[in-house]
Amino acid sequence: MNFFLFFLFITQMATAKVVLIDPGHGGEESGAVGYLDAKRSRKIFEKDLSLRLAKKIKEELSKSTTAYLTRSLDRAVSLQERADLADLVKADLFLSIHFNSSTNAKSHGFELYYLDNNSNVANHKVERSENLNLKGEELIVNQILVDLVVQQTVSHSRKLAALVHEKIKPVIKLHKVDDRGVKPGLFYVLALSKRPGLLVEVGFVSNLQELKKVNQDKFMDQLAKAISSGVMAFINSSK
Ligand SMILES: [Zn+2]
Repeated sequence: MNFFLFFLFITQMATAKVVLIDPGHGGEESGAVGYLDAKRSRKIFEKDLSLRLAKKIKEELSKSTTAYLTRSLDRAVSLQERADLADLVKADLFLSIHFNSSTNAKSHGFELYYLDNNSNVANHKVERSENLNLKGEELIVNQILVDLVVQQTVSHSRKLAALVHEKIKPVIKLHKVDDRGVKPGLFYVLALSKRPGLLVEVGFVSNLQELKKVNQDKFMDQLAKAISSGVMAFINSSK
């Protein structure tokens, strides 16, 4: 290793941030269920879509920084276990990957959430479905802890969300997925991780047309690149 490379190595060590990518659900908890055909014979689970996309994001991010997954297999991991992993790998940022669902088959679009207390009723439905733990019960989370974590992370999370959103916009536009924007949300997995972070709701698996778009490898590849480049923009701006 020559001197220049050595110098590069040292500066990378000093600035490398650890990103923990969290594919939603897993194992017996399949998350939202969608069908790839009108006859509803080809089932697809949110847990599989989120793992596919999370692996692509990890591959992208690993080119520039350190990235881990909360699960790399189809297995059940509780919200608390996901958060504990953030401590174990000393994560700086936490990215939770989900796909949306609605009883209204017409609901569609991409949403990006960051942790904040909010009173927006429309967001509560998404919060409820993502806050369930494995037994289908809501976790009891200490409100004081949540307030403290929000206070410590919200400015970073909001900035991270804005930078990631900027990079994502052209990709979802290209694939004709509507932009429902950046929103505050009370997601326990983000609160428990105690890190600045995001929760992505890529698109509605309950909408056949949208499911076909978001299930494409090309879409996932481009989205993974966009998310990673937004995350790296955040990391580089906070050096
Ligand atoms: Zn989910």
